[in-house]
Amino acid sequence: MNKILNGGCLCGEVRFTVKDEFRLFHLCHCLQCRKITSSAFASNLFTAQENLAWTAGEHLTRRFEYPGREFTKVFCTLCGSGLPFPSTDNVSVIVPAGSLDEEPTIEPLRNIFWEEHTNWLDAGMKAPCVTGFDE
Ligand SMILES: [Zn+2]
Ligand SMILES: [Zn+2]
Repeated sequence: MNKILNGGCLCGEVRFTVKDEFRLFHLCHCLQCRKITSSAFASNLFTAQENLAWTAGEHLTRRFEYPGREFTKVFCTLCGSGLPFPSTDNVSVIVPAGSLDEEPTIEPLRNIFWEEHTNWLDAGMKAPCVTGFDE
């Protein structure tokens, strides 16, 4: 039987559980994912909708639909953290990996939209790794 993972937003008002049973794990480097995460890429896990259960604060979430392309974000209206959302075909649920409190078993399978990736990601991966703020 697969483990149940806990997840939620940074402020802690929105909480969910999801089965550690993901069929895909993509890091998406497209421009829209970079904008909406304000970071180098989105980290999206895909699972069946019945594997997800909201345990607190679902009413505090809000859904944004990007016009002209199938692109969605659900976020906590208090702290702005990204949260799971159903795919537009309503078959899967997409879980931003950073919203999990624990590590999923699956590892990233692909870097998608690599042609749109940012150069500072390449440079950042080569920068020294330090503990804490380093000064
Ligand atoms: Zn929050
Ligand atoms: Zn993307």
